[in-house]
Amino acid sequence: APDAVAPTPKSAVNGHLTNGDSYARTERLQIVDDEKKFTPDLSAQIERWGLRDAGFDYNIVAVFGSQSTGKSTLLNRLFGTTFDVMDESKRQQTTKGIWMCRGKEMNVMVMDVEGTDGRERGEDQDFERKSALFSLASSEILIVNLWEHQVGLYQGANMGLLKTVFEVNLGLFGKKAQDGTQGRTLLLFVIRDHIGVTPLSNLQATLTADLTRIWESLAKPPELKDRQLSDYFDLAFTALPHKILSADKFESEVQNLRTRFVDKSSDDYLFKPAYHKRIPADGVAFYMEGIWEQVQTNKDLDLPTQQELLAQFRCDEISTVALAEFNEQAKSQKRPVESGRVVEGLGALMRNWRTDALTRYDRDASRYHKGVYGRKRADLIASLDSALSPLFLGQLKNLHKACLVTFKREMLDGLRGESYSFADVVYKAQGRCVKTFSEGAQEALVEGTDWVWEEELEALREEVRAVADQCRKDETKKMLNLIEKNFKKHISEPVELALNKANADMWDNVLRTFRETLEKAEATYTAKAISFNCTEEENVSSLAALRKRAWLALRAKIDEQTADPVILGKLRAHFEERFRYDDQGVPRVWKPEDDIDSAFKKAKDETLELVPLYSKIAPVDPSLEYTLPSEPHDALSTDDFDFTASLVVFTETKALELTGKFRKDADAYYVEAKRSTVASIAQ
Ligand code: GDP
Ligand code: MG
Repeated sequence: APDAVAPTPKSAVNGHLTNGDSYARTERLQIVDDEKKFTPDLSAQIERWGLRDAGFDYNIVAVFGSQSTGKSTLLNRLFGTTFDVMDESKRQQTTKGIWMCRGKEMNVMVMDVEGTDGRERGEDQDFERKSALFSLASSEILIVNLWEHQVGLYQGANMGLLKTVFEVNLGLFGKKAQDGTQGRTLLLFVIRDHIGVTPLSNLQATLTADLTRIWESLAKPPELKDRQLSDYFDLAFTALPHKILSADKFESEVQNLRTRFVDKSSDDYLFKPAYHKRIPADGVAFYMEGIWEQVQTNKDLDLPTQQELLAQFRCDEISTVALAEFNEQAKSQKRPVESGRVVEGLGALMRNWRTDALTRYDRDASRYHKGVYGRKRADLIASLDSALSPLFLGQLKNLHKACLVTFKREMLDGLRGESYSFADVVYKAQGRCVKTFSEGAQEALVEGTDWVWEEELEALREEVRAVADQCRKDETKKMLNLIEKNFKKHISEPVELALNKANADMWDNVLRTFRETLEKAEATYTAKAISFNCTEEENVSSLAALRKRAWLALRAKIDEQTADPVILGKLRAHFEERFRYDDQGVPRVWKPEDDIDSAFKKAKDETLELVPLYSKIAPVDPSLEYTLPSEPHDALSTDDFDFTASLVVFTETKALELTGKFRKDADAYYVEAKRSTVASIAQ
C-alpha cells in the first residue's frame, strides 16, 4: 500500500513543481514489500510524482549496502527524498523491501533497497539476489554504500553482495555488452565516515583490486570468459566525512555529490546517457512489475522479451486511449450521416481526427520497441479507418441521393416553358451533378486509405441517365401528342370538303391532304427531335407512331364524315341535286308529260354509284396510295391493327344497308314528285 496518501497532481508536467502538489512529489512508495510482493500502485504513483510524461527524460538510481550504514540518510540528503531513517534511540531493525521516491526538483526515481545484507545477518541470500537483478535491470547508477573500515575486508558482506551483482549482471547483459548501451551501469562507491588518514585514491585502489579479484573468480560461461569488468561497469568513488563529527564538511560534501547528479553540463555528471535502460517513464511501472515477477518466479530474466512485452502492453494502452478519444469525435458525425445528411467538410474532420489519434499514439508509443510500435500502429490505423469507413460510405450515399434530387429538380426547372433545348438542359444538369458529386467525394477521402468513390459515381451516372431517358420519353410523348393535335386540326376542314365532293378523285384529294399534312408533322418532329438526343431507333419508332396516329386520326375523320346520318345526308343531297333540279340548277316543277320515272331512275342510279366510291379508300393516282410502315416495336399499338382492313369504309353488308335506307328516302321523293303532278292536274 502507498505509504502516504495525497491528492493526485493533475497539473504536474515533466517535473515542474506547481503549488499544492509538492507533498505528492516527495511521497515514497514501498514497491516491493517484506513478503516480496510488488505494489499495484506504482503506475499511479509515478503519475502523482509528475513523471508519467517524462519520456526518457528521467533517471533511476538505487542504493545497496549493509544495514544501518546510513543509506537512507544519504539518499534523503542527496535527493531530498523521504525514506525512513533508523531511529537512533530505538536502533530497530528496518524491514526488508524496496522503497522508491522521486528526487526533489529533479526527474529522478530513487530506490532504497533494504535488507541486502542477509549474508551478514546469516539469512538466505535470496532477496539479495533478486533485488540485485531487479535494480540492474532498471537502474543507471548503483550506489554501493560502505563504511571506510569495511574497505579491504575482501571476505566481508559487501564483497559477497558485489559478487552477486556481477553474476546477475552477466546473466542479464552478458551478450549485450558489446554495443555499450543498454547493459552499462555505473557503480558509485560512497565511502562513509572517511576520516582522511587514508586518502581516497588508496581506498579506491583497494576496492578496484578487490573488484577485479571478484570478477576473475566468477564462473563465467565459456563464450564470456574473456569479458572484463569494464565491459559492463563504470566505477566511480567518493568519500564522505563523518556525519556527526564533521557535520559541516559532511553537508558540503553531500551537496558537491548532489551537483554531480544534477548538473548535466559538469564533466563528472553521473547520469551518462549510456546507462539509461530506455524504458519510457509511462512504462516503468509495468516494466518493473514484469521484471519483479520474472525474478520472483526464478525464471530467466530476458530483457529483450521484457521490453517487447512492455511495448505490447503500453502500445495497446496508448492506442486504446487514442482510439477512445477518436471514437468520441467520430461519434459526433455518426447520427447526421446516418440520418442522410451530407456533412459539410466531413473529410477535413475525419482527417483531423485520424491525424490527432496517430499523433497522440506516436508521441507516447514511438519510445517503445520499434517493431511492436509499428505493428500496433498499423492495427490502430486499421481500427481508425474501419471506424471512418462507414462515415465515408454514408457520405457518398447521401451525396449520391442529394445530387440525384438536384438533377431531377434542375431537369424539371429546365424543361419548363417553350424555348429550351432538351439536350442542353440535360447536358448542363448532368455536368453539375457529376461535378458536385466528384468534389464532395474527393473532399471526403482520407489519405492513406484505399477508399474509392468512382463506382458510386458510375452508379449515379447510370441513374442520371435513366432519369434523363425517362424525361426524354415523356417529352417525346408530349411532343407527339401536340403534333397529333395539330395534325387533326389541319386535316379536318380539307378532308371534310373533299369528302363532300363525291368525285372519282375524292380519295386522291383526301390522301393528298393527308400526305401533305403528315409530311409537315414529320418535319416538325424531326426538327425537335434533334435537341432531344434521341437514338435512331427511338426516332424510327416515334415516326412510325406518328404515322399510325395520323392515319387513325384520318380514319376517325372519315368515320365521322361517313356516319349513317351524314352519309345518308350526302346521298340525299346528291340525289336531290339531280332529281329536283334541272341541268341549270333550277328547281323542277313536274308536269304530267314529264318522264318522272326516267329522271328518278337516272338520279337514283347515279347516287347509288356513290356507295361503292365511299366504301373504300382508293385513290385513282396509285402514287397516293398510303401504306403504314410495319413497326413491331411501336409502343402505341397494343391491339392488332390491320391496315388493309382500315381502307374499307363500308363493308358489303353496310353498303347494302345504306343502299336500302337511301332507296326508301329516294322513294319518298318519287312519291312526292308524283303527287305534285296529280295536284297540278287537279287544279
Ligand atoms: P540505513 O539502514 O543504511 O538506511 O541507515 P540509516 O540512514 O537508517 O541510518 C542508520 C543510522 O546511522 C542512523 O541512526 C543515522 O543517524 C546514522 N547515520 C547516518 N549517516 C551516518 C553517517 O554518515 N555516519 C554515521 N556515523 N552515522 C550515520
Ligand atoms: Mg534505510
